[in-house]
Amino acid sequence: MLPYGRQSISPEDIEAVAAILRGDWLTTGPTVTAFEEAIATATGGHRAVSCTSGTAALHMAYAAAGVGPGDQVVTTPMTFVATASGASILGAEIVFADVEEDTALLDPAAVDAVVTERTKVIAAVDYAGHAADYDALQPIADRVGALTVDDAAHSVGGTYKGRPVGDLADITTLSFFPTKNLTTGEGGAVVAKDDAIAQRAHEFHFIGLVRDPARFRIGDEGPWHQEVHDFGINYRLTDVASALGLAQLARLQRFKERRAEITARYNAALADVDGVRTPVQRAWVDPAWHLYPVRILDGRRREVFEKMRAAGIGVQVNYIPVYWHPVYADLGYQRGMCPNAEAFYAEELSLPLFPDLTDDQVDQVVETLVSVLG
Ligand SMILES: *Cc1c(COP(=O)(O)O)cnc(C)c1O
Repeated sequence: MLPYGRQSISPEDIEAVAAILRGDWLTTGPTVTAFEEAIATATGGHRAVSCTSGTAALHMAYAAAGVGPGDQVVTTPMTFVATASGASILGAEIVFADVEEDTALLDPAAVDAVVTERTKVIAAVDYAGHAADYDALQPIADRVGALTVDDAAHSVGGTYKGRPVGDLADITTLSFFPTKNLTTGEGGAVVAKDDAIAQRAHEFHFIGLVRDPARFRIGDEGPWHQEVHDFGINYRLTDVASALGLAQLARLQRFKERRAEITARYNAALADVDGVRTPVQRAWVDPAWHLYPVRILDGRRREVFEKMRAAGIGVQVNYIPVYWHPVYADLGYQRGMCPNAEAFYAEELSLPLFPDLTDDQVDQVVETLVSVLG
């Protein structure tokens, strides 16, 4: 089965990991710091805190933003559940705002209609690797005293109006799962424009430990002393994983270019095919394409999915609207509340897209799709 996404591992990646295994620091060492600095450089220069997954990054981002009971988090239903559940688990109420009909990105007008003085965060997702409209979202957040979060699990390496992902929202979260644009196995990061938020994210992922003597509340226990002021979790990324991430980051631009080539090849091949709609791109966005989300029209998505899988093409569907998950349905969220997201879900099919996919394989995917559509 040709997968829909897959990591690209080089001999340099393998050597970088092996070197860590021969060294002194498997975790909490200098390679974690080096990886965090390299992520910061790649994402606009703000502090980056690495962690064990994109899900952990969202949990850290919401915790660092101070999200808790009584707060509302406005987000898109067209995402992986963690964008919402990371705030739900802290006791916040999720308010789903619909997406734009064509891009499937959080619609600023829909957000504007639902924000209140209880809105703590507006969380957008750069679906498929295409940045959401932050210049429209940020003023809405500023007006109600909320923060913006960019769930950039799909989009690291992309830009919006010339600014890199990481510099678009107050807080940005990344995922380094193997199918994403770069990988550490499991892994993720939080990037924050405000150093105080970055420091809270850091402490939350480090058990809440405070190590700066200037901040001690107990004081003079001795040189071993550290103390906890707020609860935290251990979400630390290892040096082993960070070494892989550093080696991968060196190839991020090449990954992005190859993903763009494949996207252009699909777009050209599918432009005149009946029964499909190809993804759109805003003129001011340079995406780091993570998914190729083609739309299968005429109610045929499930049939096409099954026939593609039967033909050995590992297509995927991204995503079921988040509020359809029983955990949200049980809280009273009703189907029908975000019609654009539901219409998009009904048609969406992710075609294989990863840097090592060859042109011949892309052509084979297209030929199979065209023959299935018959
Ligand atoms: C993958 C993903 C996550 C979660 O990342 P993990 O590293 O798998 O925990 C969150 N949001 C989006 C949009 C994702 O695609």
